[in-house]
Amino acid sequence: MTQIESDWDAIVIGAGLGGLSAAARLAKGGLRVLVLEQHVYAGGYAHHFLRKVRGTKIVYDFDVALHQTGDLTPGRSMQRMLENLGVMPQLSLNRFDIAYRTRGPAHDLQIPADADAYEALLCEVYPQQAKGVRDLFQTMREIDTEADHGMPSEAALSSMQLSLKELLDAHIQDERIQAIFSTLWGYIGVVPSQASAFLYARMWSSYHFSGCFYFKGGGQALSDAFVRVIESHGGRVLLSSEVTGIRTEAGRVTGVETRKRGRFNAPVVVSNAAAPLTFHKLLDSPDLAEADLERVDRLPISVSIHQAYVGIRGDATKLGLTDRGAFFAKSYDFDAELRSMEAGDYRAQGWMIGNHNLADPGHAPAGRSILHVGTLADGRLWEDLDEETYRERKHELETYLISRLAEAIPDVRERIEICETGTPRTMQRYSWNPAGAIYGYANTPDAHSIHRPEARTSVPGLYLAGAWTFPAAGFTGAMSSGYRTAGLVFEDVKQRDSTTA
Ligand SMILES: Cc1cc2nc3c(=O)[nH]c(=O)nc-3n(C[C@H](O)[C@H](O)[C@H](O)COP(=O)(O)OP(=O)(O)OC[C@H]3O[C@@H](n4cnc5c(N)ncnc54)[C@H](O)[C@@H]3O)c2cc1C
Repeated sequence: MTQIESDWDAIVIGAGLGGLSAAARLAKGGLRVLVLEQHVYAGGYAHHFLRKVRGTKIVYDFDVALHQTGDLTPGRSMQRMLENLGVMPQLSLNRFDIAYRTRGPAHDLQIPADADAYEALLCEVYPQQAKGVRDLFQTMREIDTEADHGMPSEAALSSMQLSLKELLDAHIQDERIQAIFSTLWGYIGVVPSQASAFLYARMWSSYHFSGCFYFKGGGQALSDAFVRVIESHGGRVLLSSEVTGIRTEAGRVTGVETRKRGRFNAPVVVSNAAAPLTFHKLLDSPDLAEADLERVDRLPISVSIHQAYVGIRGDATKLGLTDRGAFFAKSYDFDAELRSMEAGDYRAQGWMIGNHNLADPGHAPAGRSILHVGTLADGRLWEDLDEETYRERKHELETYLISRLAEAIPDVRERIEICETGTPRTMQRYSWNPAGAIYGYANTPDAHSIHRPEARTSVPGLYLAGAWTFPAAGFTGAMSSGYRTAGLVFEDVKQRDSTTA
């Protein structure tokens, strides 16, 4: 094992997008940064995995998470951030005119990424509802527009207290249009009656006002670009390096303990690990963080996911799966959908399906296709299962998910070369997020953004970055969080230096 210096300016626990973006900004700003990641890849959920087809040299490269991301047109906040960090120049983007297909009991539409085109489509298909549609899109524009000094607009502030359903009810009663507009609820993991209108609007806007994109090479290409920025500015990213404890002395952070590499010292520790783990498992004296624990323990945890990663022989597009990403709703009663999810009845839920070859052409092995199909899940239902029951349930789930793919490609079963099904337990196993949560805390009106544990914790020197803190989860949310946390660290370092000068 190579010898690593033990003293650093800042240590980041976890190389998810929140941790990597914090580390990249800290390193670029002149701090010596060490990132410690327990997994063998950097990226957290933004990583890939490889599977070789038995007896051949064919290797499929699956992207764990990324279906698409937004906010990357020039001038938008995420684009500027990635540009400033030197990450963007290392990446190629695939951009899409169609954001997704949405299908429900009484609709089936290809939704344009561009908001004006989307609005026009809804007005054309539902002319009686055109006024409500226009009002709704206007509200979205107002929420998206910043007031002076980057502050949220009045419309954004008023949306903060509302659920998505309440916001929609104020404009449109037609359940089909409400369902179409809410199609992306899976991306924040909360049904419209419980989703924060503000957060939904932010996420919706990141796609419909600023483009639907896929990073060529997937989430791993993005994560690797962050690693190069960190290491080219004197930082280190160590994989297979589990942090077992956050050490404090006299009430402030002094460093971390690792399983295999001993102790590392730093006056700043940024944790990208889940907030409950950070405070209850890692911090040596959780009582120091009493002020944070109220939120950490009270807020509901987000959904997890069931997702099958499938490699098949043949060109899926020619075989019938012409959608890069499609959402299927079984009914317009999303509250009933939530009850099904809580009961583990995934057959009664909507599902998502995607043809990865259309997101990242040329990425699958020649003459083959990468597909994914999934449903959201309540991760708690997969905890505490004995091994045999777990394997049985996973097998049933896989059979069900493949049956969904077979609706688009009837002979898909005969074409499958690789099928890996991820359950919430799989998500937890690789990311260490409790219950395999994919969005940190649930994005409800009282648990989103400002309601989450603060990035600057009450323990001096300890910070959070990623899906469990401000502002949000998802690729954009986690990266914004890490970037912002690094800004807070610089403020505090400056303050500390001016006090000690
Ligand atoms: C199947 C799936 C599909 C998704 N699709 C999309 C999508 O299309 N678009 C989108 O925007 N978002 C999507 N998401 C959500 C998005 O990927 C996540 O919200 C986001 O990546 C979370 O980033 P993060 O930095 O908060 O944390 P994570 O990705 O959870 O990373 C945390 C890291 O910390 C490490 N860690 C934890 N504890 C320790 C420790 N003690 N020592 C060392 N390391 C530790 C973990 O190993 C992990 O690498 C999807 C997620 C999944 C699972």
